[in-house]
Amino acid sequence: MIIAIDGPAGSGKSTTAKLAAQRLGVVHLDTGAMYRAITLKSLREGIRADDTLSLEKLVARTKIAFSGSPPGMRVWMDGEDITDAVRSDEVTKHVSDYCAPRVVRRAMVGQQRALARATDVVCEGRDIGTVVFPDADLKFFIVASVEERARRRQKDFEKMGVRKGLEELCDEIAERDRKDSTRRNSPLRKADDAEEIDTTEMTIEEQVGHIVDRARARGYAPRP
Ligand code: C5P
Repeated sequence: MIIAIDGPAGSGKSTTAKLAAQRLGVVHLDTGAMYRAITLKSLREGIRADDTLSLEKLVARTKIAFSGSPPGMRVWMDGEDITDAVRSDEVTKHVSDYCAPRVVRRAMVGQQRALARATDVVCEGRDIGTVVFPDADLKFFIVASVEERARRRQKDFEKMGVRKGLEELCDEIAERDRKDSTRRNSPLRKADDAEEIDTTEMTIEEQVGHIVDRARARGYAPRP
């Protein structure tokens, strides 16, 4: 079974996808982490987002892997644990630029499809229901107001010991939404057959419960 979850930054889709995968006993595929890994490596190597040739080579010589299962899942790049590094402010600010080139998207989508070939997944991102898995069994598009998403991001940053104002976060989120929704390749868009869930006033438990219930209605048996 493939469950596709798309939505803008801070909509709660990562936490929801992680917990839903845990409850269902399937793999959680965090595609944003893959684009973040490419961004981290590009920044380290001083490669610009418009340098398509260098990016193509970089993607070809980069090995991204996941280990463990939620909530203890780790992200690896070329044998290095980059789980925390990909969440940095620097990577977050630049990822929308590095994920846009066709050479990057083509390679990442290929890897995502290969990962899901052998196993059931809850896959989350921006283009999962539209491009990566248009035939997914279940599709959700998770949204929330910009203000609520900024508040959630602020809490995430606090956990990392970083203090950021709400206004700055609202601006950053709105800018990332704009870039993700207007880019030429695989823009953020709700698939016609995706169910939209507005999480502005929902708890995480409600969001997860909703998805698990839908999966169960499709005959998928969650772990007890
Ligand atoms: O979900 P997360 O915030 O970690 O994603 C980081 C960025 O990666 C997004 O802002 C978006 O630009 C990009 N992304 C994408 N396609 C995906 C997943 C993420 O373009 N499937």
